[in-house]
Amino acid sequence: MGTSHRLTGVSDAADLAPATIAVTAGRPPREPGQPLSTPPMLASVLHAHPADVGGADNLEYSREGNASFAAVEQVIGALEHGSALTFASGMAAVSASVAVAVRGRPGLVQPLDGYHGTRVLLAEATGLHVVDVDVTDTRAALDALPDGGALWVESPTNPLIGVPDIAALAEGVAAKGGLLVVDSTVATPVCTRPLDLGADLVVHSVTKYLSGHSDVILGAVVTRDEGLLQALLHHRTIHGAVPGPMNAFLAARGIRTLEVRMRTAMATAQVLAERLQAHPAVRRVHYPGLPDDPGHEVAGRQMSGGYGALMSFVLADAAVADAFSEALGLVVHATSLGGVETSLERRGRQHGEAHIDPGLVRMSVGIEDVDDVWADLERALAVATR
Ligand SMILES: *Cc1c(COP(=O)(O)O)cnc(C)c1O
Repeated sequence: MGTSHRLTGVSDAADLAPATIAVTAGRPPREPGQPLSTPPMLASVLHAHPADVGGADNLEYSREGNASFAAVEQVIGALEHGSALTFASGMAAVSASVAVAVRGRPGLVQPLDGYHGTRVLLAEATGLHVVDVDVTDTRAALDALPDGGALWVESPTNPLIGVPDIAALAEGVAAKGGLLVVDSTVATPVCTRPLDLGADLVVHSVTKYLSGHSDVILGAVVTRDEGLLQALLHHRTIHGAVPGPMNAFLAARGIRTLEVRMRTAMATAQVLAERLQAHPAVRRVHYPGLPDDPGHEVAGRQMSGGYGALMSFVLADAAVADAFSEALGLVVHATSLGGVETSLERRGRQHGEAHIDPGLVRMSVGIEDVDDVWADLERALAVATR
């Protein structure tokens, strides 16, 4: 059974920009006859090696690793300046991170507006004392953290699009001998590289922007800690939450265009946020690209590539938000985020969280023409407030 895993993608890609890494990392060797991209490797069993010499280079069974996982792991690791492991879903990545690095600690601090599945898992699976905080309040987050505890943040948070100050949090967590996990699904490595800011683990739902086409479920964990990497690999092999090779292949293909998709979506998001903010039916817009947003200053330092493509805005009440969602013709009314299509949902409809305004709509901005999207939003706002 192979349990070793090479650190990949750090030395060769550290000075390249995300757009270049997204295109070049995780390719087969540049040799005559080699394909340009790694094809889906659908075999579960490979011919055995003569001696028991398992390891990343001597895979014999695809639950331990697979050429298709390795390709997407190399590109994600290179983008995040660490080493990546992929999992069957974002939640499988969250679950493995919790099992390997969080469970057994003296306490856990999590965002009040965290991803619902993660909140449920952290509550059910850790047996820890879990404290909810506003993670954009660095002092509150660190005050709540016991020595040796784990701080779990999302960057930006969802659906309130708060921007935690990762560098300041990392410094405080390190001083307490704790662990900082950053779920960077919404920022993507185009905007933020949490490991460079001092995070111990980065978690991704690759399902979202990295894959980008709403057709893949996949997760990843990235770290620079070789011990954590080996423990995560052991967990994946034993618990079995490996990605499917086709999903790994599709994710790697999606990542090739990550930077151009993000750049277009972020430019559109900025325009839509400004137009929504000026619209009389909109009570408030949460988007760190707006100069008066509470996250603007931290995001300016931390989100070097841009302010992301996720925002939320508040309409009069739940009934208006529902009427608005139903009146849309181009923008998709759906949960999830990060696809090429602009989609939105009224968050209270899903989980009815007390701290979320019932009129709050979360919107994942895609890559359609900005004026076409705006025309749809404006028309639906008019119908809903008629
Ligand atoms: C979607 C999501 C997850 C879970 O990922 P899946 O791929 O759906 O399992 C975790 N964290 C965040 C921030 C997400 O958006």
